[in-house]
Amino acid sequence: MGSQKIFRRSGILFVVSAPSGTGKTTLCDNLRKTPDFIFSISCTTRSPRPGELHGEDYYFLTVEEFLAKARRGEFLEYAQVHGHYYGTPKEPVLQALDEGTDVLLDIDVQGADQIRSLEDPKIREALVDVFIMPPTLEELERRLRKRGTENDEEIRLRLHRAGQEMKRWRDFKYTILSGSVEEDLQKFRAIMKAERYLSRRLRLEEY
Ligand code: 5GP
Repeated sequence: MGSQKIFRRSGILFVVSAPSGTGKTTLCDNLRKTPDFIFSISCTTRSPRPGELHGEDYYFLTVEEFLAKARRGEFLEYAQVHGHYYGTPKEPVLQALDEGTDVLLDIDVQGADQIRSLEDPKIREALVDVFIMPPTLEELERRLRKRGTENDEEIRLRLHRAGQEMKRWRDFKYTILSGSVEEDLQKFRAIMKAERYLSRRLRLEEY
């Protein structure tokens, strides 16, 4: 009898960035319903929103705790967003990629820049960065107001920042023009599927 063959591969690092209010959190929540990857839980110094859980949405830290971790080199990247620190814990990401498990990072454009400039060959090979483009700033404002978690001044700041971030879409390997929740999910899933079949990621093993 001929031996059986099986494909194995290393993990993929999916990075998703989008201006605040685009629907990225909803997209990530939907993707997480089919958990064929691990979602990287970031550390942040902002306070939890109603319903958010420590260890599920974020690890909520004090500024001192956050900066101590940063000094110890425990973050793959970190940045200040809307006046708070956010960072990606390094160890769980590297471990998952080594084990062949895919990882999803929901981080801002500055964080994506930092990941893109990392020299670690494993990260460079694993990286697939995706930008979610809101249809228009008006639609983004509508979505932010509907969410109702920011006041007028915060909305103004977020829209200003969104305008800057939207100019950066070409830096990403993929760009999805945001439509309905369902459309965004299907488009993102299509990217995930195709990336998982890239020949260069595969090793053919016999058993
Ligand atoms: P929010 O406070 O609305 O949950 O997130 C604000 C922004 O911070 C979002 O754009 C989100 O993607 C980004 N963010 C969340 N975690 C991280 C992280 O670990 N690093 C960076 N650079 N940005 C993050």
